[in-house]
Amino acid sequence: MSVISYKCPNCDGELIFDPKTQKYKCEYCFSMFEQTELDAMQPATQEEQTEEAMDEFSAESAENGGQDEEGVIYTCPSCGAEIVTDATTAATFCYYCHNPVVLGGRLSGENMPNKIIPFAIDKKEAEKKFLEYVNSKKFIPRAFFNKKQIELFSGVYFPYWVYNTSIRGRMTAEAQKVRVWRQGDTEFTETRFFEVEREGKIGLKDMTENALKKANHVLADGVMPYRFEEAKPFNFGFLSGFLAEKKDIEKEEVSNTFQTEAKDYATKLLRESIDGYSSVQSKHSSFSVADEDYAYTLLPVWTITYPGKNGKTYYYSMNGQTGKICGELPVDYKKVGMTALITGIIVFVLGILGGLLI
Ligand SMILES: [Zn+2]
Ligand SMILES: [Zn+2]
Repeated sequence: MSVISYKCPNCDGELIFDPKTQKYKCEYCFSMFEQTELDAMQPATQEEQTEEAMDEFSAESAENGGQDEEGVIYTCPSCGAEIVTDATTAATFCYYCHNPVVLGGRLSGENMPNKIIPFAIDKKEAEKKFLEYVNSKKFIPRAFFNKKQIELFSGVYFPYWVYNTSIRGRMTAEAQKVRVWRQGDTEFTETRFFEVEREGKIGLKDMTENALKKANHVLADGVMPYRFEEAKPFNFGFLSGFLAEKKDIEKEEVSNTFQTEAKDYATKLLRESIDGYSSVQSKHSSFSVADEDYAYTLLPVWTITYPGKNGKTYYYSMNGQTGKICGELPVDYKKVGMTALITGIIVFVLGILGGLLI
C-alpha cells in the first residue's frame, strides 16, 4: 500500500490543492504550481508493508481476505508517526504533523475513481458562508459560533456513482372521448374509442447513487446537484489537503436502482404525453436500456457536525463546487434534504404515432 504526499520542489513543504486558484500551493514558501507541473513531479511515495492496525482488525481482515477491508495503520511520510485509518479512508491528515496524506493504494485498480469534481470553494469562503447562514437564523446556541467549532470545518470528497443512459420505450393504451349534447327532449352521448400508441427515446444524464455505506454520506446527498459537466479525470493531486472516502458499494449493487428509476421516468413521460381524452387505460409498455455509462466520481463537500445537548448530532454541509447549503441547526428541525435523483435530461425525443380511430 502506498502513501502519497506531494513535496514542494523549492522547500520540501507539503503541497495542497487550492480551490480558489485551482493550483497547488506550498503552505510554507507560498509557491504555486500548475496541474501539469504537479503531474511532472514524482510524488513522494512510500511503499510499505502495511501493518494490520490491531489484533481485532487482523482477525477480521484475514476472514475478508484483504487488508483493504479494515482499519489499517500507515506511516506518515513527513514525520514517521502512525496514521490510523478507517477501511474507506482515501485521504486524510497526519494527526501529529497535520500534513496531508493520500492513501494511493486505497484508490488503485478497481477503486481508482473515474472522475472528480475538485473543490472550487476554499475553507475561508466556506467558513464565511457558514457564519452568514448561522447569523441569519435565530436561537442558535452560542457554542455554534465559537472559533474552535468553526475550525472543525472539513473538506471531504464523497464517492458516488454517476449514471448516464438512453432508454427506448413503447406504450399502448385504450382511450375514450365522450361528447354529450341535447336536442329537444333527447340527450345524446357519443363515445369514441381510440387505441393510442406512444414511442420515444430519451437520454438521461447524471443520475446519482451514493457509493459509501457509512451513514455520513447524507452530508453530500443534501447538497445535490453538482455541475457534472465540470468533472475532471481523476488525479490524486486533488485530494491533497482534503479528506476523502473510497467507495464500498459496487456498480452491480446500484445498476438495478438506476435502471428502474430510468424506466419509471420514461413511463411517466410517455403516459403524460397521452392527453386530451376523457379517460385512458394503459395496456402494455416495454423499455430497453442502451448506452449505459457508470462513472465512479468523487464529489466535494464542506462539512461540520455539532454535538447537541440532547445527544443528537447536527449536520451542516455545503456543496464544495456550488456553495449550496444544507443543514440542520440545533433549533431548526429541518430534515436533511434528499437528493434529486435525476438532475438533468439532455435529449428528449418523443415520436408520437398519434391516436388512431378504431
Ligand atoms: Zn515550498
Ligand atoms: Zn506526520
